[in-house]
Amino acid sequence: MKYKKYLMWAGLILTMCLVGLVTTQPLLIKAIYAKYKSTDQFLTFEGDARIKYEQGAEQYAVTLNNSLDESQKAVEVALGAKFKKPISIYICSSQDVFNEYVYLSKNVRGAVYWGKLFLSPGAFNRGSLAKLTKHELTHYLFYTHLGERAHIEGIPLWFREGIAEFVANGGPKFTQGRSIQRFLSVKERESYLSGSLDFWFTTEDPSDAVSNGTVNWVLYKVGALLVHYLHDLSPQQFEELIKKLLAGQRFEKAVYSEYGRDIQTLRSEFTKYIQNAH
Ligand SMILES: [Zn+2]
Repeated sequence: MKYKKYLMWAGLILTMCLVGLVTTQPLLIKAIYAKYKSTDQFLTFEGDARIKYEQGAEQYAVTLNNSLDESQKAVEVALGAKFKKPISIYICSSQDVFNEYVYLSKNVRGAVYWGKLFLSPGAFNRGSLAKLTKHELTHYLFYTHLGERAHIEGIPLWFREGIAEFVANGGPKFTQGRSIQRFLSVKERESYLSGSLDFWFTTEDPSDAVSNGTVNWVLYKVGALLVHYLHDLSPQQFEELIKKLLAGQRFEKAVYSEYGRDIQTLRSEFTKYIQNAH
């Protein structure tokens, strides 16, 4: 009898915990669901095993096939590193399916989740596919070296997005012979200097980059410009920095050992540089 009573209480508590979890942590539940959601329905593109697509998305697979070699090479050259695992890109047949794997905004067109790279039809209908692919492949290259945890814990969000944009921009040649200040509009410059974007350099919450369902691109832009700035300060130290990060060294330590000062100091220098723009 006593045993039955304990069992009943245990069941009740477990149910309450589950209800609590579902109501307070909907994102966590979606994340767990996404992790275990099967990708078995994706077909492999004939002639390129890197590309997987859902029925109905074959024309997107053909389009991706035309530029993937070039995008992969651009990423490897810009980062001075190779992918440690084969690339797998999953092209979803609809935005809804994409969002079942990637529980971000409906406007997101591509993302690396749980070690897989997903693209939505939007990747092929809006903006530059090559730029998006290079951005996501940069995340993926870091993932193949560091795995999910090391990647999230070792490198701040702004740098992960900034380096992805740096590569998508075409790497060093984007700012070659041009002053970085010129890439910011008057409004963007004012917004950066007002301090209203400062949170971006400390947050670890990707949803901070999204407001009203739309990605706040100015955050990605200033982050990327700081990455370009670090590169242009010393291309050689930058190359070494990337090597150290890919080897698993923590960001702060790697920056300090290469640049001889911490990232806060370097960002202050970047801010002064932006302030002095004419
Ligand atoms: Zn990204």
